Amino acid sequence: MTSSPRYDLPDVDAFTRPYWDAAGEGRLLIRRCRDCGRAHHYPREFCPSCWSEDVAWEEASGRAELYTWSVVHRNDLPPFGARVPYVAAVVDLAEGPRMMTEVVDCPQDALRIGMPLRVAFRAGDEGPATPVFRPA
Ligand SMILES: [Zn+2]
Repeated sequence: MTSSPRYDLPDVDAFTRPYWDAAGEGRLLIRRCRDCGRAHHYPREFCPSCWSEDVAWEEASGRAELYTWSVVHRNDLPPFGARVPYVAAVVDLAEGPRMMTEVVDCPQDALRIGMPLRVAFRAGDEGPATPVFRPA
């Protein structure tokens, strides 16, 4: 018997390991360019604004605002089906980057564009902890 496939586990490699290690410690990392000063997310090895490769990890404040969201009522990919309904969201981090995530601990009718959020971390049962957001 084989276990069913999962679609929520990241492929952790040498480049992204610091990000996932930090998440396990309750810290959200972003990348910031030392040439143009802009921060970005998801993590890339070069700056998506100016293509510089002089980019470093930085701990984010964890503060964000809700940009948009969608309540997911059906998802056939394991293990998401066991989590519905959930709030798939895009948030604007205080440092600037826009991030895909999930909003937790918030009634759906209380969701508002621009509402202040703070990062939290969902412990992974088989993989690394993942950043989610809850109302600030
Ligand atoms: Zn740059």
